[in-house]
Amino acid sequence: MLNLTQYNSQFQEIETPFYFYDLDLLRKTTGAAKDAISGTNFHIHYALKANSNDPILKLVKEEGFGADCVSGNEVRKAIEIGFKPEEIAFAGVGKTDKEIKYALGEGIFAFNCESMHEIEVINEIASGLGKTANIALRINPNVDAQTHKHITTGLEENKFGINISELDQVIEKINGFQHINVRGIHFHIGSQVLNLDNYRQLCLKANELVKLFHSKGMILDHLNVGGGLGIDYEDPETNPIPPFADYFNVFKNNLELEKPLDIHFELGRSISGQCGALITKVLYVKYGIKKNFLIVDAGMTELMRPALYQAKHKIISFSGSIDKETYDVVGPICESTDSFDVGIQLPKSNRGDLLALLSSGAYGQVMANKYNMRDDIQAIYSSDL
Ligand SMILES: *Cc1c(COP(=O)(O)O)cnc(C)c1O
Repeated sequence: MLNLTQYNSQFQEIETPFYFYDLDLLRKTTGAAKDAISGTNFHIHYALKANSNDPILKLVKEEGFGADCVSGNEVRKAIEIGFKPEEIAFAGVGKTDKEIKYALGEGIFAFNCESMHEIEVINEIASGLGKTANIALRINPNVDAQTHKHITTGLEENKFGINISELDQVIEKINGFQHINVRGIHFHIGSQVLNLDNYRQLCLKANELVKLFHSKGMILDHLNVGGGLGIDYEDPETNPIPPFADYFNVFKNNLELEKPLDIHFELGRSISGQCGALITKVLYVKYGIKKNFLIVDAGMTELMRPALYQAKHKIISFSGSIDKETYDVVGPICESTDSFDVGIQLPKSNRGDLLALLSSGAYGQVMANKYNMRDDIQAIYSSDL
């Protein structure tokens, strides 16, 4: 995959920093995911929030995936790209009235509803428009995703989803709503989940809950188990494609539903994460008293994950030197958390050498911001070179 140093001379011509996307790897990744679900009633929605650049969305759509959105603008984007409304799920704890009206008008697959109060509001808005809203109840399964606490979403202390203890009350109340059609139940336990046993736990919870719904006369047509499959940030060159077969097998082997439901998945990071890299240039080499710093022209404004949740991206150097040095790699932004890694061994680097921060295709460019009045960051695709 992504033998990036082959592009050294082409990259030298492009203003840094920039994101580079390997669309061949993206196609291999979507292909591997599709192979793993062939012959099943599994459906994959791509989570736009991981990366919503047009060429990436177009490819994912052409591969036959649905869309998973967390804002009205993402729903609009998905429709513009050509995703069918009946393949668009819309989640999020704080949907606004405007977003709800818009998505109702488009006739999306399901609102994944996160609280009783939200369902009441959707019922009211749908009533005003003379429509019925398709919803799935997002249930907080209280399953630990064993990931960084900032990207855990399925525990009782998290803001997401309806707690199991409230379910009886919620179901009773929804039965009185004329403009709500409960089609499914939805979960999402967190992101960058590497221990697949967490998904086995989720399956066991889902089995129980589907039974509970059916016993109350609520007939569901789907179960949405969310996303979160992790990627290998430490060794992306060896493992560019996530273990889709193992992941989907957990669901094949552990879901036991008395009536066959469609099973929906919402994968973001595992689809687009490995196909992107942030390319940056060394501005200055600073030999300090205790440390040596490579000061590069990308910062937390272009790739926020290290500052936001102590994430690490593998850094490779294009310098070509056979001598090694130990460096802290830091950005230009006026914050001490603007650091990509500390004490790492890299080929000895000089001003003008390029570095690549690998595995940056998800939650990278989408989180870029303008702090310090930074320029917009551009995207280069393998098909452009
Ligand atoms: C973010 C999110 C996803 C995608 O998560 P990944 O870890 O990128 O797979 C899926 N579903 C919901 C509801 C989300 O919020």
